[in-house]
Amino acid sequence: MFRDLFNRQPNDKPFLISGPCSAETEDQVLETCQRLAATGKVQALRAGIWKPRTKPGGFEGVGAKGLPWLKKAGELTGLPVAVEVATAKHVEDCLAFGVDLLWVGARTTGNPFSVQEIANALRGVAVPVLVKNPIHPELELWAGAVERLQKAGLKQVGLIHRGFSSYGNPDFRNAPMWHLPIEMKRRMPELPILNDPSHICGRRDTLFAVAQQALDLDFDGTMIESHRDPDNAWSDAKQQITPEVLGQLIHDLVWRHETTDKAEFLTALAGLREQINNLDAEVLLLLGRRMAVAEKIGQYKKENDITILQTGRLTEILERSKRQGAQVGLTEAFVERYMEAVHLESVLRQERVMNG
Ligand code: PEP
Ligand code: MN
Repeated sequence: MFRDLFNRQPNDKPFLISGPCSAETEDQVLETCQRLAATGKVQALRAGIWKPRTKPGGFEGVGAKGLPWLKKAGELTGLPVAVEVATAKHVEDCLAFGVDLLWVGARTTGNPFSVQEIANALRGVAVPVLVKNPIHPELELWAGAVERLQKAGLKQVGLIHRGFSSYGNPDFRNAPMWHLPIEMKRRMPELPILNDPSHICGRRDTLFAVAQQALDLDFDGTMIESHRDPDNAWSDAKQQITPEVLGQLIHDLVWRHETTDKAEFLTALAGLREQINNLDAEVLLLLGRRMAVAEKIGQYKKENDITILQTGRLTEILERSKRQGAQVGLTEAFVERYMEAVHLESVLRQERVMNG
């Protein structure tokens, strides 16, 4: 059933999971899911049954009584259904109702006790599980949660990128920090990864841009919240869209993978990648030579009893590099990050010379 997600073929379309943030009533679940299925664009349905809320008193989900509604939606549409689990009891209830796919929410991924409890409850069960990134930009917790599930014997584990909490970023409810999911893809290339623009954006008007960016970054698909009457949703009203708007959004996304079977494109791409490989090799060679010179300076400093770190020098290097970088189209911010890393390595090398 999840062949399309866990056995990606080069020309597969993006995998779309959609459904309401929360199951509210049987009628709301059934209508939303049937309208979603009618778009023909959805591969799986979702609904939150237990909702993690920051403060007590908010709508905390309908609980297990919503599971039969979702099961019915799955039967009526022929689509698999997905639910968020945060405890062993949630896992048990979902398995009892034949939920096809589970996901671990952002608040749970950040808590190793809870993840382990879920992993233990899933031992010996063959159900696919997607792991959302933790709320805070902490890659090790995300990777750790995946490992706990894999260690429990789960073979079908995937990732959902839902953005990270950050202060002072008015554009996003959760900042995408794209470098983090990219690093997860690099570390765990065999895991499918979906993007969740709903929780990244927190609003409707930017969903498309984020969903498109994820596809451009080679994500395998998307999880987007959809509700039959978004403005009156019991949770996350601002970010939900109707099934019909969702259908149009998915239709408008450009899926660049479709071009990968064009030999011409592949050849051009291979040529450009080769250029990058050669340029990277040159840069590394030069960096090696730079570090050798830095060590020589370290030797002089040692012989003449001079401190390694002279702040004036770093400022001078940064200013000159930024001027030179600007001439070849490099941003100040990038040059600064890059030169600081290079300078730090030089200092470490010199320390080794001093203490050696
Ligand atoms: C959700 O998918 O409805 C949800 C609660 O998401 P997250 O765990 O990403 O906040
Ligand atoms: Mn939500």
